[in-house]
Amino acid sequence: MRDGMDRRDFMKTVGIGSVAAAMAGGTAGSALGAEEAGVAAITAAPPRGTYVLPELPYAYGALEPFLAGQTLKLHHDKHHQGYVNGLNATLEKLAAARQAGDYGAIKRLSRSLAFHGSGHVLHTLYWNSMTPGGAALTGPLAEAVAKDFGSQEAFLAQFAAATRAAEASGWGVVAYEPMGRRVLVLQAEKHQNLTVWGVVPLLVCDVWEHAYYLDYQNRRGDYVKGFLGAANWAFANRRYAQARKLG
Ligand code: MN
Repeated sequence: MRDGMDRRDFMKTVGIGSVAAAMAGGTAGSALGAEEAGVAAITAAPPRGTYVLPELPYAYGALEPFLAGQTLKLHHDKHHQGYVNGLNATLEKLAAARQAGDYGAIKRLSRSLAFHGSGHVLHTLYWNSMTPGGAALTGPLAEAVAKDFGSQEAFLAQFAAATRAAEASGWGVVAYEPMGRRVLVLQAEKHQNLTVWGVVPLLVCDVWEHAYYLDYQNRRGDYVKGFLGAANWAFANRRYAQARKLG
């Protein structure tokens, strides 16, 4: 996210409080002001409720040498766009199923909804989880992880280990869990598996091979080390401040 973005725009861009809220922030309708929406209505804008690919919060090459511009361009323009398209197509198929009263494909469609929906949410958070040069872990989130993990070093070591060890295509996730009012380190397989329901992801690291293979080949550990150098803990702190309102 851009440093100049105000809180309202931040909320609209990434949402807070639930996956549903985060996803609502990425729809075409809510991304537009009233004036823009009026203009969009007479152009080829997607209908309200259609998910759209957010812009990267920096130039493609802004994270070099950690990640090449080509890596981010392919990852954002092709892979993330694919999840957005898949999410919209799945919702259309679910609408058609309701219309026809035919739920023969409901298992496959429900799986597709979770996969593409979670893919869109996680990638939207991923772009914002990095910033050129990184942003230090300080403030309330730093205090919380020191309490919940013993020390910041232990927290970062667990996050790095969990991220490196995600099985096959997955993610490392730092999340706030409102019922226990604590920070958790989670892994995700694919995009949607291994979550704890109700958590608010604060900072995420994509370890699908498409995220790093051009730059690091099979050296996932080197990529994760580079990610920690670019991690945007200021973004995570803003998410944390909002998430704390849930419990
Ligand atoms: Mn990815």
